[in-house]
Amino acid sequence: MIAEVYIDIPANPVNKPFDYRVPEPYRDLLEPGMRVTVPFGRTRRLGFVTALKESSEFTRLKSIDAIEDHLPVLTTELLELGRWLADTTVCATVAAYQAMLPAVLKADYKKVVKVEDPKQLKKQHPNLAGLFESKGQLLWAELVKNDVNLLTSINHALRKGSLSIHQLVRNQATAKHVAVVSASVSAERMKLEYSQLSDRAKRQKEALYYFIHRSDSATFHPTMQALTNEGLSRDAILKLAEKELLRIDQVEQFRNPYKRAIEHTEPLKLTDEQANALAPILQSMDKNEHRVFLCHGVTGSGKTEIYLQSIQHVLERKQQAIVLVPEISLTPQMVVRFKGRFGDHVAVMHSGLSRGEKYDEWRKIREEKVQVVVGARSAIFAPFNNLGLIIIDEEHESSYKQEDMPRYHARDIAIHRAQDHQCPVVLGSATPSLESFARARKQVYTLLSLKQRVNHRPLPSVHIVDLREEMRQGNHSVFSKELLEKIKDRLQKKEQTVLFLNRRGYATFVMCRSCGTVVECPHCDISLTYHRAQHLLKCHYCGYEQAVSDTCPTCGSDAMRFFGTGTQKVEAELSRLIPEARVIRMDVDTTRKKGSHERLLRQFGEEKADILLGTQMIAKGLDFPKVTLVGVLAADSLLHLADFRASEKTFQLVTQVAGRAGRHDLPGEVVIQSYSPDHYAVLDAARHDYESFYNQEMALRRLGSYPPFYYLVLICLTHPEPAKVAEAAERIALILKKHLSDSSQIYGPVVPAVAKIKDRYRYQCMVKYKREPALLPVLHRIMQHFQEGGKNGLQVSIDLNPVALM
Ligand code: ADP
Ligand code: ZN
Ligand code: ZN
Repeated sequence: MIAEVYIDIPANPVNKPFDYRVPEPYRDLLEPGMRVTVPFGRTRRLGFVTALKESSEFTRLKSIDAIEDHLPVLTTELLELGRWLADTTVCATVAAYQAMLPAVLKADYKKVVKVEDPKQLKKQHPNLAGLFESKGQLLWAELVKNDVNLLTSINHALRKGSLSIHQLVRNQATAKHVAVVSASVSAERMKLEYSQLSDRAKRQKEALYYFIHRSDSATFHPTMQALTNEGLSRDAILKLAEKELLRIDQVEQFRNPYKRAIEHTEPLKLTDEQANALAPILQSMDKNEHRVFLCHGVTGSGKTEIYLQSIQHVLERKQQAIVLVPEISLTPQMVVRFKGRFGDHVAVMHSGLSRGEKYDEWRKIREEKVQVVVGARSAIFAPFNNLGLIIIDEEHESSYKQEDMPRYHARDIAIHRAQDHQCPVVLGSATPSLESFARARKQVYTLLSLKQRVNHRPLPSVHIVDLREEMRQGNHSVFSKELLEKIKDRLQKKEQTVLFLNRRGYATFVMCRSCGTVVECPHCDISLTYHRAQHLLKCHYCGYEQAVSDTCPTCGSDAMRFFGTGTQKVEAELSRLIPEARVIRMDVDTTRKKGSHERLLRQFGEEKADILLGTQMIAKGLDFPKVTLVGVLAADSLLHLADFRASEKTFQLVTQVAGRAGRHDLPGEVVIQSYSPDHYAVLDAARHDYESFYNQEMALRRLGSYPPFYYLVLICLTHPEPAKVAEAAERIALILKKHLSDSSQIYGPVVPAVAKIKDRYRYQCMVKYKREPALLPVLHRIMQHFQEGGKNGLQVSIDLNPVALM
C-alpha cells in the first residue's frame, strides 16, 4: 500500500504529494486526512496523507515512520476543499491544509496517550496494560516507537475508550484539570464521624457539616475552588479526604471561555418582515437546495433573530451550522445571544482564545459534541460532516479576507462548502458589499430585505456638522459646539453617549512646523506613530521605535509638534471640557489584556460610565438601551485613503456607528462631524440611503473599471535592492502581457503608496479582468518560477480579489 503525502513545508516550491510505502501494521489504521511523520531529505517531517493507492510509478520508496492521528484531522470534504483553495488562491496545498486546522495540530506538538479504563485495558490488551503499569500516560511517539505492532491494539483500545489521546500544548497542560470534591461515604456515616471529631478540629467539622446538610449530598460535586470561596478550609478538606470521608478527583475540563451563567432565551415572535425573510431560507433547507441569500436589513431590523431561528431548524433536521461574525464584533454580547438560545450546542472560536482553548473548541466540533460554531474567519473550516446552513454576518467586512497565504475570502469558502453540502448560505448586512448587492440585483443571490427596525422604532436622526466651518469660527477642539451641547444634555438626562474615532494612540505623527519634516521609520516608507504611554515613536509595520526629540532632524528648529487626534487625546479633552463625565475608553491599548474588552462593555452596560469612547471595535454589534447619542468625531478619516473602496468603507462605518443609537425605547440621535460634509458617502449614510449610495458608487466603479465590474489581481514583489525588484516586476508584467487575452488590462509595474517595508523595496503589478481562463495557470507558473528564485531574496505574493491596494 502506498500513501500520497503532502509535506509540511508551506514554501515548498514542489507543490505536489510524495509517495511513501505504508508498513504492514499501519495498513488497517491509516486513512486519508491523517497526519504522518515521514523521512524527508535528511530530516523527518510532518505530512498530510491525501490518498492511498496500490502502486506507485516510483521505485525505491521510503516508508512512513509513524501515524500521528487516530481520527483523520481533515475530512474528505476538507481535503478536496484544500486542493481547490490552493488552486484558486495560488498557494501551496499544504498551506491550505494548515489554515484549516488549529495551531496545535500544525506544528510538531507532542501527544500523550492516557489510560481511561484500566480494568478494560488489562482484560483486552494485557501487553499494553503492562506498558502503562504505574504510569497514567505515555508519550505517543515513545509508545509506537517500541513496537509498531502495538498500534493495532492501541487503536482498538482508543476506539473502545479504554485509552484516550491528547495533544500536549506547549507551556500548558493539554486540558485543564480541576479538583472536584465529593462525599465518599453516606450522610449517616458523615454524621457519625462528625460527632466523633474533637472540637479542636473546628475547620474539619465545618467542612463535613457543609456536606452533611445537603439533601443532594450524594450527587453534590463542587470544585475545591467553589468550597474555598465559601470560606471552607482547603487543608481541612484535604485532611477529610485522607480519612476517606471526602474524595478529591482531578476532572478534565473543557476550558470554557464564557464561564458566566447565560440565561436561556426562547424564540421571539417574528415581525412580518422577519417571517418573510426566514421562510425562503427554511424552504431551501427542506429542499436540500444550495442558494445564497443576501439579507439586507437596516441596523436593528432583527437579523440576528432570523439567524437564530434558521439555526433552530438546522438542529431539528439534525444538521450543523456555521456562523461567521467579524473578529471585532465577536463581542460577548453576540456570543451570549447564541449560547443563550442553543447553550452547549455552541462552540465559539476567536483569536482571544488560547491555543489550548481553540483546540478544545475544534475537538468539540470534530467529535460532533456541538452542532453550531460561532466564530471569526477561520471557523469557516469547521470540520462538520453534515452542514445545513452557513451564515456570514456583516458580510461586507474586510476581515473575512485573509491577508496571508492562503489569501482566501471566507465568503467564497462558504459558498463552495454549501454547494458540496447542498445547503443555503445567508449573507447579512445593513451595508452589503457592492459585490454582493450587485449579485443580488442580477438574481445570482436572493435578496431578503428588512427595511424597518423591530417594533418600528425610528432610525436615529442624523446631523452633519461641517468641521471646516467650526475651524473658521475659531473652534479648534475635536468637539463641535453642537456635539458638545448634546453630550452635556445626555449627561443631565442620565442617558449614555457613544463617541467613535477611527484612530488610536495619542497623536498619529510628529511634524516640524517650520520645515514640514515628518519623522519616518528608517526601514519603512511610513511615518512613525507617537505612543503616549511609553513616550515613544513607533513604526506600525516593523515595530521599530525611537525616543521623541523636540528638535527637528532636518532643520534643527524646536518646532516639532504632534498632529492628528487619537482616543487618548480625545479622552484628555473630554475631561477638560466636561470634567464630571465618566468615560470608558476602548481601543487596542485598553483592551490588550484578555477579558478587558468584555469587562469594559459590561461596565458601560451597567451604566458605570456616561460615555463610551472608542475605535472600530465599538462600531458594531453593541446594543445598549440607554445610548441615545452617537458622535462620529471625524467621519472622513477613511475617505482619503488611496483605495478605490475608501468611499464604501466610509459609508459602511458611518452607517454602522449611527446604528448604535436609539435601538430601544429611547429615540436616538447621531452627530457626524466631517471635513467633507458634501461627500455622497457621508450624506447617504446620514440619510440611511443604501440604494442611493450604491447607485452613485457603482457609476464610479464602472468608470474606473473596478470591482464588481472587473476582477482584480494584485502581484506584489519585494527585495532588499530596488534594482532587483524592478527588474523582476518588469519580467512578470511581460509574462502577463504575453499570456493574457486582450480583454484584460495589465497595470504596472508601479511603486505602491508604501514603497519600502522592513528594508525591502516593493513593486506591484495589477490585472483587471472579466473572464480570463489563462489566468490561474499563468499565476501558478509565475509563483513557482519566482519562488524558486526566492533563494536570491525575492518575495512574490499574489492576491486575487484584494481588499486593500496598499
Ligand atoms: P440587527 O442584527 O438587524 O441589527 P438585532 O437582531 O440586533 O438587529 O435586533 C435588534 C433588537 O430587536 C434586539 O434587541 C432584538 O432582541 C430585538 N428583536 C429582534 N427581533 C424581535 C422580535 N421579533 N420581537 C421583539 N424584539 C425583537
Ligand atoms: Zn518600520
Ligand atoms: Zn524642521
